[in-house]
Amino acid sequence: MSETIFTKIIAGEIPADIVYEDDEVLAFRDINPQAPVHVLIIPKLDIATVNDIQPHQAELIGKLVLAAQKIAADEGIAEDGFRLVINCNRHGCQVVCHLHMHLLGGNQLRGLAG
Ligand code: 5GP
Repeated sequence: MSETIFTKIIAGEIPADIVYEDDEVLAFRDINPQAPVHVLIIPKLDIATVNDIQPHQAELIGKLVLAAQKIAADEGIAEDGFRLVINCNRHGCQVVCHLHMHLLGGNQLRGLAG
């Protein structure tokens, strides 16, 4: 298992503002929010990037999306809408090499075309 800041958060070794947790998924607020609501949703399983997801982990990846759905509802942003982003590797600007989904919302986001 490769150690990252997120594995330390999973282990409780460093604090995080946790908004959702179950046996397989953890979600906590981003330390440097890019929107009024900015939550990171991660598998507890050590998966580095989207490139490393295995077919048998498809259900786990679905659970990340379902966690995002629940958190968006809990945060009151479901109806207005939100964005889910997974960065991958260098060109995708992935900094932390533990798979994570960004949930962004709470105001009007810019279109992807800028
Ligand atoms: P990436 O660029 O890898 O997709 O996103 C990594 C995210 O992790 C960034 O948005 C960054 O602000 C967030 N982050 C980095 N270190 C910490 C930390 O120690 N705690 C929390 N809550 N978020 C972090």
